[in-house]
Amino acid sequence: MYAEIIAVGSELLTPDRVDTNSLYLTEQLNTLGVEVRRKSVVGDDRALLAEEVRRAVQRSEIVILSGGLGPTEDDVTRDAVADALGRQLIFSAELLEALTARFARLNRKMADNNKRQTFLLEGAEALPNARGTAPGQWLETDSAVVMLLPGPPHELKAIFADDCLPRLAKRLPPQAIRTRFLRVAGMGESDLDQMISPIYKPYANPMTTILAGAGDIQIHLRARGSNAAEAEALLDEVAPRIEELLGERVYSRDGASLETVVGRMLRARGATVSVAESCTGGLLGERITNVAGSSDYFVGGFLAYTDRLKVNLLGVEAGMLALHTSVSEETAKAMAAGARARTGSTYAIAVTGEAGPESATGAPVGTVIVGMAGPDGDPHAERYTLFGDRNGIRARAAQWALDYFRRRM
Ligand code: AMP
Ligand code: MG
Repeated sequence: MYAEIIAVGSELLTPDRVDTNSLYLTEQLNTLGVEVRRKSVVGDDRALLAEEVRRAVQRSEIVILSGGLGPTEDDVTRDAVADALGRQLIFSAELLEALTARFARLNRKMADNNKRQTFLLEGAEALPNARGTAPGQWLETDSAVVMLLPGPPHELKAIFADDCLPRLAKRLPPQAIRTRFLRVAGMGESDLDQMISPIYKPYANPMTTILAGAGDIQIHLRARGSNAAEAEALLDEVAPRIEELLGERVYSRDGASLETVVGRMLRARGATVSVAESCTGGLLGERITNVAGSSDYFVGGFLAYTDRLKVNLLGVEAGMLALHTSVSEETAKAMAAGARARTGSTYAIAVTGEAGPESATGAPVGTVIVGMAGPDGDPHAERYTLFGDRNGIRARAAQWALDYFRRRM
């Protein structure tokens, strides 16, 4: 079964507001096994909206409208749906009573305009709105179920969860959608796709999508079955083969971020970490402290951008710096060792490199060295060649540093 969502509101066509209601609705519909096949955003325009609704009810069995149920003239959803479906709007004494009581309870005077909210589409049921003045409406036509829901997200969510979901569940054949969410670091999107597409391509169910951002790839698998176990079994047919192929490059199976995974590992070991950053300018510390509760394992760090601060803050030897430059394995190892010694942390991670656009040390732009020091063995480091503009390289450097640390820890 397919659904369609129409977000109504001229503000959603400006750069200031984004339609988030449809994300919530999609998530909820998916739990019932309903796919959203189309979404649209329409301004407060009665004719345009009526046209959209007319098409929607022909295409989809479930049509959900969000917004435009307010009391003012620009709220046209009721009228537009009435136009589209050739139904009257009928005054409801019951709704007026409820609305009047609400205003009395809040000690407010009801404006005449609010009476607009006491009209129901012919044949529709009112969905009570405990959080606002606009009730939702549920209407069954020959071919579709149409829902009108108020725009404010907390009102829409409450009405949808309390009244729409149970009604929908009753109408639908049992179906379940299950997802698996693998996250991968340390490789490019096309390399990854080349590697795993022979596994997932033959399957339409589960459906596999790959999303990529600065050195972080997400693989989403979505399976539909007549029940949860069936959907899980479909996932089990494909996901483990992808995981096996990617090996330790998969850092998360539950969608958790790289910094979250690293945090979990540190916590499990009862260990702490510090950072020594040069080219990332604090991004690594920012990533680690993104995670609530990171004070359990993150002790702090050093932002040692110049050679002088690498010497003064981290105890890197000036002679070694002069010999190898700041962008070298030797420096990254010395930075990590210095951070560890000076903070007393179990581990330390260091990043140094050339983010561009010019190279200060002669190393090519994009050269990044990650160093690590820990309780076992000598500090070690690895050199990477990263691409992107200055900020792309810096973001990747933080990502590669976290991932190097994860794999070596
Ligand atoms: P309305 O029901 O059109 O009066 O909407 C009232 C308010 O709800 C708007 O001013 C927005 O702040 C919010 N809103 C409306 N539609 C959406 C949407 N699709 N996603 C998120 N917020 C919305
Ligand atoms: Mg509106």
